[in-house]
Amino acid sequence: MAGTVYHDCACCGGDAGQNYQWPNQDFEYGVCGSCAVWIAQREGWESVFECYGKPGVHWQLPHGVNPSSEFYVAYEKQFNTSYPLAQIAKT
Ligand SMILES: [Zn+2]
Repeated sequence: MAGTVYHDCACCGGDAGQNYQWPNQDFEYGVCGSCAVWIAQREGWESVFECYGKPGVHWQLPHGVNPSSEFYVAYEKQFNTSYPLAQIAKT
């Protein structure tokens, strides 16, 4: 993917995959999927989206994870658009 960089997870230090850079994070830092879910359980998805950006763009949901209804509501609120259904089919 053009314009993407390899990210380390700002939470656990692990591999966070190759994604677009989110401006709220230091260069080459993002979040891995399991940390994103862990943070969301404690602070809510709105906090994850604000700190780490869009799932499927700036970080990736773990495989097999079906987002909760709170995920969709927070996504719509944060990005002013509904979560693309094509991304759910890929997981
Ligand atoms: Zn992590």
